[in-house]
Amino acid sequence: MRRIGIIGAGQAGLCLGISLIDAGYDVTIFSDRTPEAILNSRLRATPILFPDALEIERNLGLNFWDEESPVCEGFHHQVLDTEGNLVLDYSSKLEAHWRGVDQRLKFSCWMEEFVRRGGELIVREINLDDLDKLAPNYDLVVVAVGKGSLATLFERDAQRSPHNKPKRHLGGGFFTKLKSDRIFFHTFQMTTLPNVGEIFQLPFYDKNENPCYASVFVAYPGEVMDRFSHVQNGREFLETAKKAIQEFMPWEYEIFEDMELSEENAWLCGAITPIVRRPVGHLPSGGIVMGIADAVILNDPIAAQGANNANKMAHLVAQKIIERGERKFDSEWMQAVFDEFWEYVQYSIGLTDCFLSPPEHLQDIGMAMAKNPDVLRDYFNGINNPPSLSPWFFDSFKAKKYLAEKNAKNLAIVT
Ligand SMILES: Cc1cc2nc3c(=O)[nH]c(=O)nc-3n(C[C@H](O)[C@H](O)[C@H](O)COP(=O)(O)OP(=O)(O)OC[C@H]3O[C@@H](n4cnc5c(N)ncnc54)[C@H](O)[C@@H]3O)c2cc1C
Repeated sequence: MRRIGIIGAGQAGLCLGISLIDAGYDVTIFSDRTPEAILNSRLRATPILFPDALEIERNLGLNFWDEESPVCEGFHHQVLDTEGNLVLDYSSKLEAHWRGVDQRLKFSCWMEEFVRRGGELIVREINLDDLDKLAPNYDLVVVAVGKGSLATLFERDAQRSPHNKPKRHLGGGFFTKLKSDRIFFHTFQMTTLPNVGEIFQLPFYDKNENPCYASVFVAYPGEVMDRFSHVQNGREFLETAKKAIQEFMPWEYEIFEDMELSEENAWLCGAITPIVRRPVGHLPSGGIVMGIADAVILNDPIAAQGANNANKMAHLVAQKIIERGERKFDSEWMQAVFDEFWEYVQYSIGLTDCFLSPPEHLQDIGMAMAKNPDVLRDYFNGINNPPSLSPWFFDSFKAKKYLAEKNAKNLAIVT
């Protein structure tokens, strides 16, 4: 039986570990925290998953919360001008639902599930020295530490890493006690504030297995909504979030004015510098390890891609490990697996970059989405599967051509 070691019990590490246990491998996951510590920790992310990533979890039997957790059934986008006037406002039903389950709940339950299915879980924070010592005990060691410092073992790919500082500063939390059920529990709402940032609001399922509502404030650094970095505790976060809604979405303030955090740790602040690293990590004594998910492809969360990518990369790596049979997991194999994933993930990065620095043609696409359900459907498919956005979403000339075709088709349907 081949032995696989995985560092990091997060979105990618647990999906990979459980896939391999199910396929009959001997798998050890090293986690820096116990399941209880994860459950009781501060919120680190608010990831919504799209249909393909949800299907990966379903196929692994990890969709424990499908019955009770709320789903996004609709999408609502509002765009303001620089004076605060609403210039675009449209909604649509989602053909396939999106879902957000608190990763603290997921990871702690999945760790227990991993052990229940026969995996070995070792609670220990692994440093480079540990990694060097433990690597020879395994046929393959996969590093899935997310933003953890061990990721610096993997060399930065300068060509694929154009950013050297965060493009947005983030604040996010889970809330209850909203006044209206108009948006609550059903709709993914995005509010675009030019030169200020974006506010995302979506139904979620928190670590205590209660439905809640996530609000994520995504601010341009140094601009008026960039006010979460100095927040010290949940009370300050709540007040700051309420004030931001009052100031930037006054027409909805009444709904949010009495809201509370869903629990004291349900808030986060931060900023991410996107980076792509090389997948092969070289250890001091000459061994090699493979990096996956955020450890080697770290995105700003603005386009909601990271956890979706983590599931997809874990799924691909599991398949490739199985296909490899008894052959060695050498650096050529690691690079080839990464290259195959790159064919997919480069579009996810492209989509994120379009959100971070919107090219001019994105305005035309946005206007078309508001009017033409066909364009909106293509966009939803694209968020779920970014390669389908190529080339029309990424290139102004191709966007023009695509929109002309879609408009002509739309006119033909109307007349
Ligand atoms: C505010 C915010 C909102 C987000 N929203 C979305 C979204 O809507 N959709 C989406 O798809 N993604 C979203 N993401 C991104 C998503 O959460 C991550 O991309 C995803 O969790 C990455 O998975 P991973 O397995 O690489 O890392 P993680 O899930 O972070 O797991 C890494 C694990 O490794 C552990 N670890 C770290 N170092 C060590 C060590 N030395 N030894 C042992 N264990 C270690 C950590 O404790 C952690 O448990 C969001 C992120 C943020 C910050």
